[in-house]
Amino acid sequence: MSSAKKRKVDHECRVFNDNWTRKYFFANFNDRAVCLICRDTVAVFKEFNLKRHFQSKHSDFFVT
Ligand SMILES: [Zn+2]
Repeated sequence: MSSAKKRKVDHECRVFNDNWTRKYFFANFNDRAVCLICRDTVAVFKEFNLKRHFQSKHSDFFVT
C-alpha cells in the first residue's frame, strides 16, 4: 500500500555507502549512520551530512 508513496530513491542519495566508513568513519547501524568516533548518529544518508560532521567535529582526527 505504501509502494506509491515510497518511490525508489537514488542509490546515491539515501543508501549507505561503504566508502563513508573509510572516508568519514561512519558505519551503517539500524538504518542510521553512526559515527565510529563519537557514536553520534546521522539519520539521513547523505555524504554531505557525514562529511560535515566529520569535518566539523573530527577534523583533527584525520591528518591530511
Ligand atoms: Zn563523530
